[in-house]
Amino acid sequence: MAKLIVANWKMNPESVAAAEKLAKATDTASLVICPPFLFLSNVGRILQKARLGAQDVFWQNSGAFTGEISPLQLKDLSVEYVIVGHSERRQYLGETDYMVAQKLSAVLGAGLTPILCVGETKKQRDSGEQFKIITEQLNIGLSLLTKNLCASKSIIIAYEPVWAIGTGLTDDPDSTLKIISFMKRELLKLNQSCSYHFIYGGSVTSQNVESFLRHQEIEGVLVGGASLNPAELGTIIKIAERYS
Ligand code: PEP
Repeated sequence: MAKLIVANWKMNPESVAAAEKLAKATDTASLVICPPFLFLSNVGRILQKARLGAQDVFWQNSGAFTGEISPLQLKDLSVEYVIVGHSERRQYLGETDYMVAQKLSAVLGAGLTPILCVGETKKQRDSGEQFKIITEQLNIGLSLLTKNLCASKSIIIAYEPVWAIGTGLTDDPDSTLKIISFMKRELLKLNQSCSYHFIYGGSVTSQNVESFLRHQEIEGVLVGGASLNPAELGTIIKIAERYS
């Protein structure tokens, strides 16, 4: 597949006008733009080439769940991808692996493509728990999958070491490759019929993106901060195209 670039705008920018401007300036094929929910509709109307993604979702399709957004509501706005289990939601909003599992199966159930984020904290990495944590995140996060759900779409797994998100620190690409092959082995044990793609996230910039994307096993990148800068994102996309 062409390398996939996922732009996670997080809680930015501050206005609809600024969101529309950013969408116009970055609308490129092979890009998935994930704006805040509030801007999905306006950004969706602007995009001609990029696809639309959401940063989160709830696991029910409708009902009394104040403040939540359902997979069907996202689908109605032409959203195609949904990030689930981003570490900022795990950290600040108490999302558990089981909540992530429910979201992931709801996303697939609605015919959307989930981007499941996994990754260890600095403390977990330093104490040698990296593989244990990722195994847990995968085992529980994918525990509600069924054959039918797997038949609909593939699942994108974003390896995002928590200590690399928004810090300017990146993983060593060789270590990312080790994690990806470890995850592939773990997923085989789960004995599902789902197909998976693997991307990296954590302080990706135009300066370091090539060191990841030159490896065939790293099928794309999830870009946070740098995705808010059209020139920077444009360079990242140009580099990605060389390896697509
Ligand atoms: C992210 O939002 O998941 C992310 C990786 O952010 P950043 O690129 O800013 O580290």
